[in-house]
Amino acid sequence: MNRPQSVDLIVTDAMVYCFDDENTFLPDGAIAVAGSRIVDVGPTDEILKAYQSSTVLDGQHFLAMPGLVNTHNHTPLTITRGMIEDLSFAPIYTKSIPQGHLLSASETLALARLGMYELLKAGCTTVVDFYRHPKMLAQAADEMGMRAVITGRIHDVDLDELASRNWVHRNEIGDATLQETCDLIDAWHGKSDGRIRCDVGAHGTDTCTPGLLRRVRELAEKQGGNVHIHLAHAKGEVNYVHERDGISPACLVEEVGLLNERLIAAHCVFLDEEDRKRVGRAGIGVAHAPHQNAPAGNSAPIRDLIAEGAHVSLCTDSRSADMFEAMRLAGGSWRMKNGGYEPKAKTLLDWAIGNGARQLGMQNEIGRIAKGYKADIIFLDRLMPNLTPIVDGYGILAYSASAGNVDTVIIDGRIRLRDKRPVGFDAHSVVSEAQTVSEKLWARYGYNPVTRS
Ligand SMILES: [Zn+2]
Repeated sequence: MNRPQSVDLIVTDAMVYCFDDENTFLPDGAIAVAGSRIVDVGPTDEILKAYQSSTVLDGQHFLAMPGLVNTHNHTPLTITRGMIEDLSFAPIYTKSIPQGHLLSASETLALARLGMYELLKAGCTTVVDFYRHPKMLAQAADEMGMRAVITGRIHDVDLDELASRNWVHRNEIGDATLQETCDLIDAWHGKSDGRIRCDVGAHGTDTCTPGLLRRVRELAEKQGGNVHIHLAHAKGEVNYVHERDGISPACLVEEVGLLNERLIAAHCVFLDEEDRKRVGRAGIGVAHAPHQNAPAGNSAPIRDLIAEGAHVSLCTDSRSADMFEAMRLAGGSWRMKNGGYEPKAKTLLDWAIGNGARQLGMQNEIGRIAKGYKADIIFLDRLMPNLTPIVDGYGILAYSASAGNVDTVIIDGRIRLRDKRPVGFDAHSVVSEAQTVSEKLWARYGYNPVTRS
């Protein structure tokens, strides 16, 4: 008889959702991990005959699934959470609140750490995060062991003017924000065994002139990966681009050569029929942000976009990082718009896992629990009352699970969250530093946080 193969980690006796082509479900499953990858998955008795490890996690109370993939986020914007929802659609268009371009690098880092910690706790193992001071985002993601696609926020609009809804473009701002992304790429692309990838991100069609968007395309052609953008996310954006360029935002993106399957466009709310066909034909990725859209009374035409050929993934766009909540909001907003009982639970889960992996070109690396895939696995505490009863398996996850059920997270083969506590960093200081930074920033705008009264 062959001796068992030594591996770095074995999880035993878990309920395993593989999310593979066969939708394999193992009621008593085990996962063997060596280095950053899954070497095997199967019934516990078979895995224990074939593998041995000095680290064995008892998964008896675990429901194991691939980590969630969040395709559009800005961790420093946690600064406006809990305030912006009652004020406006997006901080960048809102006067007299803390603006991203006013955050220092160290303030950005404190907020990025908060955002990354929240994502980790919520079972997100891969995130697209982009904002000003992008090196701070990469640093925060790296410290917490996240798999991350980081980019700067390229624009040439003057943000002080934009807060009052005046669009004033300045070449030097475009140069500086492009350079910031180039510097990020030099410093971080491919770092931490490839866990940190750097892409190119433009803020939007109204905040970039066509000339700058063409430079974004040139940089992205050199860099590879995806191009990230906000598209048709506000009526003001659509009106201004019509006024400035005489075309719609989707037409503009096409004209500058960015409308293709590499584009991940967040929101895609205000697209007319022609534009829905245009983006669908191009096979773009839509980062669906129901958390962001719903408080502003918006709902993206997801059913039509899919029918035309676009691909949908889910994101939280710096609101609550709970992707299970995003699934429910996505399902609910579709049904409010179209009626009926689509999309089903499994589709919502696919948007939050496999579709995101595919949009990022990582479908052969992440998004399933299978041999050879990266060990990005989350474990939910299935003894929680909201995860009972498990009948078809998927419905309970999409309609009842929450970020708070995530007990343990493995990313790239390493345990990053255990018993709901982070491994390798001090959660208390992350939260308290972010609160201190936030209080100081809001105080500049005359808000006296309740913690200080
Ligand atoms: Zn966004």
